[in-house]
Amino acid sequence: MSSTDVPPARRVFCNRTLNLGAIGAIGFDMDYTVVQYDPTAWESGAFGHAVAYLHDALGWPVDRLTFDAADVTQGLIFDLETGNILKANRFGYVKRARHGTQWLSLQQMREHYSRTVVHHEDPRFVFLNTLFSLSEATLLGHAVALWDQDRLPDVPSLTALYRHVRAAIDHAHRPDQLKATIAAAPERFVDLDPDTAPALLDLADAGKKLLLITNSDWAYTEQMMRFALDRFLPGTTTWRDLFTLVVVAARKPSFFSGDAPCFEVDTSTGWLRPLDGPLQPGRVYHGGHAALVERALGLASDQLLYLGDHFFGDVHASKSALRWRTALVMRELEDEIEAAVAFAPTEQELVARMADKERLEDALNQARLELLRVRAGRAEGAEDAVGARIDGLRRELAALDALVAPLARASAERGGSVWGPILRTGGDKSYLAYLLERHADIYTSRVSNLLHATPFRFFRSVKGTLPHDAVTRDVEGA
Ligand code: IMP
Ligand code: MG
Repeated sequence: MSSTDVPPARRVFCNRTLNLGAIGAIGFDMDYTVVQYDPTAWESGAFGHAVAYLHDALGWPVDRLTFDAADVTQGLIFDLETGNILKANRFGYVKRARHGTQWLSLQQMREHYSRTVVHHEDPRFVFLNTLFSLSEATLLGHAVALWDQDRLPDVPSLTALYRHVRAAIDHAHRPDQLKATIAAAPERFVDLDPDTAPALLDLADAGKKLLLITNSDWAYTEQMMRFALDRFLPGTTTWRDLFTLVVVAARKPSFFSGDAPCFEVDTSTGWLRPLDGPLQPGRVYHGGHAALVERALGLASDQLLYLGDHFFGDVHASKSALRWRTALVMRELEDEIEAAVAFAPTEQELVARMADKERLEDALNQARLELLRVRAGRAEGAEDAVGARIDGLRRELAALDALVAPLARASAERGGSVWGPILRTGGDKSYLAYLLERHADIYTSRVSNLLHATPFRFFRSVKGTLPHDAVTRDVEGA
């Protein structure tokens, strides 16, 4: 399939020009990057384990709560000061907010957030950016509702509430919890993609060194990679043959900036021994840090590309600490693009109606100004006639608003979640979209999309646009 035949949802998108041909090594995150899961299965499982922990260890009345995937989305933000869950636009202005299970009214939003700008480095805000955050977002909503009803008497503050929920989610991710169930029945959780293995083979054949750098432990990594890849590899080739280096328990994001000790994993026993000398091809390491990887490969930082699904853990850290080239893998992009394509006729209708609205508003403004001037004796004309014209325009605008409002609401809420598209807030880009544009050089829905892109692809960024470009285009077209 040539790259132009690839369906829109499976393309690779480029923020910052990247020549894949000039990349010497490609690092991959594992969970939700090389290995894709069914997020509803994973997150409802994690939710169940976290709820059991809060109930059994802390006595919270949460045992009847259930996980609803449509109720949350990626890119939400927990406000530790108010307990609200937020969605912000690219400027950090809060555009939607929910407290417990109740949406905030416009008036409440104004009270809480008219002087507040969300920023990812502000400790007041917790960013819930990956698919692993869906259970956490749901649980935070429920916990805040219980706290409001005084049903969590031992929890003194929202910060304490957040810490308990965090501990519960950490507990759910322990090897003996949900992962034990996944390892026993991976087919219930892993979403197999037959194109991932060939995409990795092509990259390796083209001379790229492939690295796996995951926060998961060795036992889980080995089981998942074998399950997801080996069946799609030729002959006796296994996933281990594809990767020059494997680093498990990497502790990203600090892996990219720290100097944690590194151990070599004895893959037959799982035992660890301290690193002795530089990293060696074909081996598996536990912990360590990115400088060891750079040293072993002997490549400049811009010859390394790292792909991951975690905006802060994978993309932001590797770019800001090391200036590696970066790719964000975002599975929901497929639903998001498909929803946008399906919605395109309605979106066109909305754009046309908004253009009508702007014309009417302009006519109304001109008429109001004319009335002021007539009244001040600075213009000719009868006050009554101008007043009647103003009334007519106001009626037309009200009728138009009645048409526009449901279209605008449908546009803001399209897709599978009540929070609307992940990368949009209303008519603007979301805060997550702002982070994505700034820090991910390229982005795509899955690793296997590289298969059609080929290892030699020159990704060119689209020409950046500014609002005044539309005016220039209009003039050119006139
Ligand atoms: P990676 O995406 O391959 O780096 O792996 C992510 C690992 O981090 C997986 O083993 C997840 O189970 C684990 N993980 C993700 N979120 C949490 C969390 O909130 N607490 C503890 N572990 C987590
Ligand atoms: Mg991941």
